[in-house]
Amino acid sequence: MTETELRERIALHGRSLFDRGYTCGSSGNISVRLPDGILVTPTNSCLGRIDPDRISKLRWDGELISGDRPSKEACLHLSVYRARQAENAIVHLHSTYSVAVSCLSDVDAANVLPPITAYYVMRVGRLPLVPYFAPGDEQLAQEVEKFTRRSRAVLLANHGPVVSAGDLDAAVNAVEELEETAKLYLMLRGQPTQFLNPDQVAQLETRFPS
Ligand code: ZN
Repeated sequence: MTETELRERIALHGRSLFDRGYTCGSSGNISVRLPDGILVTPTNSCLGRIDPDRISKLRWDGELISGDRPSKEACLHLSVYRARQAENAIVHLHSTYSVAVSCLSDVDAANVLPPITAYYVMRVGRLPLVPYFAPGDEQLAQEVEKFTRRSRAVLLANHGPVVSAGDLDAAVNAVEELEETAKLYLMLRGQPTQFLNPDQVAQLETRFPS
């Protein structure tokens, strides 16, 4: 895909996520990998109204090459790309149900959501909880880099999910799957529930390796 096409895809997916309530206001950001850096949505921009020509283009050291000033969370994206060389796109949202789960005090921090469905296991897999740091804190970027070495998706405590994938379509599908699974999890809390068992999860991980 050319850079122009990637810019258009970012705007298209941003609008789609915004229109369907996955993000609101100026929250959330999307990026894609380029040979010499990344494209990332600008600071204070609404994902529903991204101008492809004004998307921030950054070098690997974070310096702005062109476009508007980048999201304050661009450093998180750069951290994930450093940790996961095979991934080419990242979506970070403050999506309601995932944020709600990120605030719970009784979850397994090593893997926050149980394996409710096969598609969640295939598209998201393990979801560790990254401890809370204020937005823009350099330590948050360092923690995200550490956690994403072993997981393509992480949940930032009291904040929201960061999901990476081989391309933007896959990253959007995965973050949507995560949000729906967080919603299901909250619906099922307190009810006798049959999750996938460890053998079923292992079988999926073998057949559909991440
Ligand atoms: Zn955020």
